[in-house]
Amino acid sequence: MVLREIYARSILSKSQVFDYVVNPYIGCQHNCVYCYARFMRRFTRHKEPWGEFVDVKINALALLKHEIDKRPPGRVWVSGECDPYQPLETTYELTRRSLEILIQYGWPITVQTKSPLVLRDIDLLRRNDKVEVGLSVTTADDGVRKLFEPGTPPIKGRIEALEELRLANIRTYAMIAPMLPGAERLADQLNGKVDYVLVDRMNYHYGDWVYRKHHLEYAMSHDFFFSKGKELASAFTEQGIECRVLF
Ligand code: SF4
Repeated sequence: MVLREIYARSILSKSQVFDYVVNPYIGCQHNCVYCYARFMRRFTRHKEPWGEFVDVKINALALLKHEIDKRPPGRVWVSGECDPYQPLETTYELTRRSLEILIQYGWPITVQTKSPLVLRDIDLLRRNDKVEVGLSVTTADDGVRKLFEPGTPPIKGRIEALEELRLANIRTYAMIAPMLPGAERLADQLNGKVDYVLVDRMNYHYGDWVYRKHHLEYAMSHDFFFSKGKELASAFTEQGIECRVLF
């Protein structure tokens, strides 16, 4: 793993999903084979494969303090491209300290991660009722998780994290995206642990070779996404959980 400490030019960027996005890290130790953010490698001058480098924006906090005073308030996505709670966050704490600033200003925040490390910041997150936290949970099968997301924490811990966040009165959502084989079993496991669910199909085919190598081609088909997406949506609706299918 190659780590570089860099000075970024800005940190509070406009986003097409929310008003703003904050990415303290470029690169991701979670190393998902389907990751769409791997296109960013081109802009970093890294020769290492995706998953084997991270640029750490060590001036992120100074930039955020400067930029937040100049912008109108809006919802901030933490983070849009690279996981804000990847393992090196335990050392740098740039996500935590960015959240401290955003919460001090009372801005709405949407946190999105694959890591239960977010629980470390529960004290902070519960101070603002405009915070929501989403965990990406792509399958109920931890064997499948290891094939597609080799650097990520186990599924069980992510589901337990959602439960703990919700018990702390923080709004939670599960991002079942991309739907991987075994995703259909998530409705039972997430019952009572989330306020809403987002479901999406695989849109980026960087991970095709993993499907082929493990004879999982059926799970790349339109039939798989449409039938399993429909099953998930009706199971969540029956539980009274809002479910948005994004395809
Ligand atoms: S956790 Fe997200 S950003 Fe990190 S490799 Fe996986 S998909 Fe990409």
